[in-house]
Amino acid sequence: MNRFADIVIIGAGVMGASAAFHLARGARMSERARPLGARVVVVEKGSIGSGMTKRSGGLVRGTFPNETETQLAWTSLNYFRDWKNIVGGDCAFVKTGVVVIVDEARAHIGAPAQTLDADALRELQPHARVDDVVRALYEPDAGYADPLATTQAFAARAKEWGAEFRTGTLVKSIRVEHHRVTGVETTTGMIETMNVVVMTGAWSERLLKPRGIDIGIQTARVQVAFFDRPAELKKGHCAFVDLTTGAYFRPHTFGLTYAGLLNEEINLVNPDHFDETVSQDFVADLRARIATRIPAMAHARFARRHTGVYDLTPHARPIISRVPGIAGLIVAAGFGANGFAIAPAVGACVAEMVSDGAASTVDVSALSLVVE
Ligand SMILES: Cc1cc2nc3c(=O)[nH]c(=O)nc-3n(C[C@H](O)[C@H](O)[C@H](O)COP(=O)(O)OP(=O)(O)OC[C@H]3O[C@@H](n4cnc5c(N)ncnc54)[C@H](O)[C@@H]3O)c2cc1C
Repeated sequence: MNRFADIVIIGAGVMGASAAFHLARGARMSERARPLGARVVVVEKGSIGSGMTKRSGGLVRGTFPNETETQLAWTSLNYFRDWKNIVGGDCAFVKTGVVVIVDEARAHIGAPAQTLDADALRELQPHARVDDVVRALYEPDAGYADPLATTQAFAARAKEWGAEFRTGTLVKSIRVEHHRVTGVETTTGMIETMNVVVMTGAWSERLLKPRGIDIGIQTARVQVAFFDRPAELKKGHCAFVDLTTGAYFRPHTFGLTYAGLLNEEINLVNPDHFDETVSQDFVADLRARIATRIPAMAHARFARRHTGVYDLTPHARPIISRVPGIAGLIVAAGFGANGFAIAPAVGACVAEMVSDGAASTVDVSALSLVVE
């Protein structure tokens, strides 16, 4: 097994796989002889996508309250829509259209989406209740993709272009000498490298804190439920992010609707050991909120459920940044509830930060740990 790498990415969730894809693509496409890219090693303690990515709802949309995240999301949407040509394989993207119902307090959300009034929303979704709608944003090209298929497709192409995925291997620590990264110590030995990217989601603090970096990520449990839609809704519905009822939901395969709460009460947990049950109260509350928007869902049968853990930063925005004071160390974590939708562009930005010194796909300086 190779003891040296140009770049080590820690974590093979959708973020790590996307970064590996972009780094491997950059190396392949570059005409120049370059030191970077030839040996991209992704170290993953489980299997590809086995972290929070496999629990993700896969909702892909572009309406975020901040400009940087909005740009990351709209750039990423192009990947999902044209996956075969850009990445190859299949991410199982389904274009459902996404309706974001904003309350007046948040009506400033500035995304490049269409604005709908109540009448226009009724026309689009005749089964929806609209009398309380002040304003809705509509993204006709948005939808959802399969998070595991997406991650595996990124990884497959990265491997084809020379990246190595070392699964079943835990990074125990990041080695730093004279204020620069020099390697990572893993359960299968040391890998010497001058570039390390930490993309370990809910587990990030464990690697960063011993290096004196505290970005304050909290890990909070979330619950998700699937409902069997009643016969009158078999054709499905748009995906909804409903800031007035506090629920988000989207159609799923087999006539199911996937749903969760937008602001579930914070319940901090250990991402390795947490309560994986979903309470009946949660299911009843969620169904009632969905039925407030789509009344026919009041009788939808509960089908199945799962849980997951969000990696939340104190300012509720992700970190995509070089680590000040440690040359060669980059961190991209704290994506909370929305990482999947922006993963393609995040991977592109991280690859550019490693290879070119700065991100150019999207200016991510607003997400930096460095005050610029
Ligand atoms: C229930 C749920 C629903 C969601 N729904 C949506 C949605 O609809 N739309 C959306 O945009 N986002 C959604 N998200 C958020 C999105 O899924 C995440 O932001 C995204 O998957 C994070 O990817 P990641 O690669 O950063 O993390 P992860 O997928 O968690 O990957 C990190 C990887 O690092 C590995 N790792 C950790 N520590 C080490 C170590 N020391 N050594 C080696 N490997 C290590 C882990 O095993 C893991 O595989 C949802 C999240 C959850 C939990």
